[in-house]
Amino acid sequence: MEKIYDIVIIGGGPAGMTAAIYAQRAGMKCVILEKMAVGGQVALTPRIENYPGFKVIDGISLSQNIMEQTMGLGAEIDYVEAFDIDFSGEMKKVKTKDVTYVAYAVILAMGASARALGTKEDARFAGKGLSYCAICDGAFFKDKVVAVVGGGNSAFQDIEYLSTFAKKIIHINRRSEFRADNANLETYNKLKNQKDSKIEAYLGYVIESLKGDKVLEGLMLRNLKTNELVEVKADGLFVAIGRVPQTEILDKRLKLDETGYVTVDQHMKTNLDGIFACGDITHKTLRQIATATGDGAIAGISASSYVKSVRGV
Ligand SMILES: Cc1cc2nc3c(=O)[nH]c(=O)nc-3n(C[C@H](O)[C@H](O)[C@H](O)COP(=O)(O)OP(=O)(O)OC[C@H]3O[C@@H](n4cnc5c(N)ncnc54)[C@H](O)[C@@H]3O)c2cc1C
Repeated sequence: MEKIYDIVIIGGGPAGMTAAIYAQRAGMKCVILEKMAVGGQVALTPRIENYPGFKVIDGISLSQNIMEQTMGLGAEIDYVEAFDIDFSGEMKKVKTKDVTYVAYAVILAMGASARALGTKEDARFAGKGLSYCAICDGAFFKDKVVAVVGGGNSAFQDIEYLSTFAKKIIHINRRSEFRADNANLETYNKLKNQKDSKIEAYLGYVIESLKGDKVLEGLMLRNLKTNELVEVKADGLFVAIGRVPQTEILDKRLKLDETGYVTVDQHMKTNLDGIFACGDITHKTLRQIATATGDGAIAGISASSYVKSVRGV
C-alpha cells in the first residue's frame, strides 16, 4: 500500500515534530513516522531545566505538549519504523513494513541512540540488569545496588534519578574530569558530599566484564593507571557513555561526516535533492532540545519551499 504526502518526516523527537509544525503552517501535508514513542530522547529525561519557557519540566510532559501542538496543526503521526528510503526520482519513497510513504521531500530526524557498553556480556545481561534508560527501568531497582557508567549530563541525571530508589550507586568513569554542566555537577556534589551518601565513585576505571549467573550480580572494573582489577557487587548497571547517530537506514550516497553524522548546510539541506535533516542526527557542536527544535524549524521551512518549487505552487 502507498500513502502520499508532501513531506515525510522520519523521527518524532523534538526536531521532527518541530519540522512538522513549521511545514504544516506553510501549507504542507506531513506525516511523522515514529518507531517508538514521540519525544525521542526527551521522553527519557526526568527533568529539563534549560528549555526556554519552562523553568523545570519533565520530558514526558514536554514531549506530550509538542505532540499536541503538532497534531493540532493537522500533522499525522504513524507509529512505524522506516527501514529504507528510495532517494531516486522526484518522488521519494520511505518504506515501512506494510506501507510505502511517497513524498516530494523527506526530513531525516532520527536522532541518536545510546552507545553500547561493548563488553562480551552485553547481550547476555540486556534486560537482566543492564539498562540504557534510568527513567524506564530505575524503579525496578528499589533498595538495590546500581552502577552508572559515564561522565556527561546523562550519567549525572541518571545518578540523581536513581538516588531516589537505589540503596547505593556506584559511579564509574574512565576519567576524573566530567563533561557534565555546572547544574548537574552541583547536584552530584551535593549528593556525594552529604552525610551517609549513597554514591561510591570509581574514577579512572573502566568496566572489563559483567558478572552474574542468570541476572547481573556484579562488575569487574579495571583501573586504567595500574591495570588492577576490582570486583564490585551491583544488581543493575545504567550505561550513559554517549550517543550514536541513527543512520543505519541511509543510502551510501548521503554525505556523512567522519563520525557518522549527516552533513547539512545552513538550510538543513543534505547533499541529495529533496532530502533534509535536523536535530541530533546532524553534524553540529551542541545536541540539545533547543538546537533540535531550531534545526527542525529551518528544515520544515526549507523542505516546504523545496516542495513548492518542484510542485510549481
Ligand atoms: C538522558 C538524557 C537527558 C537529556 N537531557 C537534556 C536536557 O536536560 N536538556 C536538553 O536540552 N537536552 C537534553 N538531552 C538531549 C535531547 O534529548 C536531544 O538533543 C534531543 O532529543 C534531540 O532531538 P531529535 O529530535 O534530534 O532526536 P531524538 O530525540 O533522538 O528523536 C529521534 C526519534 O526518531 C525515532 N527514530 C529513529 N529511527 C527511526 C526509524 N528508522 N523509523 C522511525 N522512527 C525512528 C526515534 O525512536 C526517536 O523517537 C538529553 C538526552 C538524554 C538521552
